[in-house]
Amino acid sequence: MAAEEDPSRRQFVRKLLLGATLAPLAMVRMNTSRAADLPLLSPDDPEAKKVKYIEDASSQKSATKGNTCATCALYEGAYKSAQGPCQLFPGKHVKAAGWCSAWAPQL
Ligand code: SF4
Repeated sequence: MAAEEDPSRRQFVRKLLLGATLAPLAMVRMNTSRAADLPLLSPDDPEAKKVKYIEDASSQKSATKGNTCATCALYEGAYKSAQGPCQLFPGKHVKAAGWCSAWAPQL
């Protein structure tokens, strides 16, 4: 004889599974909106100056053509974004067209 499940228990388990499935999506959305609020790194920031950060890579002779923040391994901005977070400068955005001497190739 099979034990019948309580309908309210079944509903609870369904909601629990749905919540567990959707929780990572909610976290991504929260992280994205939080990241969108980050201030832009100023080239005059003392930390930025240490690595010669500039907002326009084309104006820096040391930057190899095509080496911009958007093509750097440390850049965390979305594809084709104008600016985004950089692992080197937590809590700040850098310009996708920017560059600094810590530029690293994407693997
Ligand atoms: S580490 Fe990369 S993404 Fe960050 S500022 Fe330098 S070049 Fe740009």
